[in-house]
Amino acid sequence: MIVVMSRNATKEEINNVEKKLSELGFSTHPIYGEVKTVIGAIGDKRYLNTHEITSMPGVECLVPIMKPYKLASRELQQNNTIIDVGGVKIGGSNIVVMAGPCAIESADTFLETAVKVKEAGARILRGGAFKPRTSPYSFQGLEEDGLKILAEAREVTGLKIVTEVVDTRDVELVNSYADILQIGARNMQNFRLLREAGMTTKPVLLKRGLSATIEEWLMAAEYILAAGNPNVILCERGIRTYETATRNTIDMSAIPVIKELSHLPIVVDPSHATGMWKYVGALAKGAVATGADGLIIEVHSNPASALSDGPQSLRPEKFAQLMKELQAVAAAVGRNI
Ligand code: PEP
Ligand code: MN
Repeated sequence: MIVVMSRNATKEEINNVEKKLSELGFSTHPIYGEVKTVIGAIGDKRYLNTHEITSMPGVECLVPIMKPYKLASRELQQNNTIIDVGGVKIGGSNIVVMAGPCAIESADTFLETAVKVKEAGARILRGGAFKPRTSPYSFQGLEEDGLKILAEAREVTGLKIVTEVVDTRDVELVNSYADILQIGARNMQNFRLLREAGMTTKPVLLKRGLSATIEEWLMAAEYILAAGNPNVILCERGIRTYETATRNTIDMSAIPVIKELSHLPIVVDPSHATGMWKYVGALAKGAVATGADGLIIEVHSNPASALSDGPQSLRPEKFAQLMKELQAVAAAVGRNI
């Protein structure tokens, strides 16, 4: 439920309400708006005597949150969440582009690509050190050596880094290197992993599960938020449908639907959505036009030799060209890139 405080409620009154709610077993999430403060109270209301709260000084009213996800819901927070990744803001007027290879393969090739995506205008560098591969015989990633290469690339380029964590046992390690923790599609409902990521202070890029509904995806985000981490970035990366012409089917309607249901930022991954580099540009432009807050795009200096996802990776020159084309689309929807 939402406890709406009156316009002139004092800080002390707000604190007292929070204290009371905690005593009654609720977790509290105050949101300080320009005009009013509201307190999200998450817990079991069955035995709550609502009068105990409504009669407190400074309280205007109680409003139930109807959606099963509470903290992720726009009912609780009307303003968009803007996530600050060391100065790079995701969810505001700028479209943030994250780019880099699917996996970190060697220091030299990774650094070369990192410098090129930076020159083209990417703000965040991607690269997997722990890879969730369909086959156990495929390249599984360089693990901590890969994380060290990522950190070196951050040092050289100044770009922030996003990288996937696939197992609860690695959260601490990945957290010690990454600026954004990525939770992949295959782990969207790994609830222990969501909780662990929720106990860190790093923003989490939560990819939509292979066949997850929007509600299931928001419930996964809720796990991270409920564990105490308010910085969740949703990522639409295509879902499984009957269509086989592309690797997955992008759900473009998820963008406005998420914008209506949630205050969290949403980015789009056109690389995994299509599985083919030649379609990446069209979907990237479509995503920006549809209201996405950012993109995550796979770029590889030599896709033919890539150890994972070569067919969907753009060459750096193609990526640079796409970044130019995206500027016009962003401008048409009143945003910058
Ligand atoms: C990735 O980003 O390389 C990845 C494995 O993505 P997804 O979880 O969306 O398949
Ligand atoms: Mn990939």
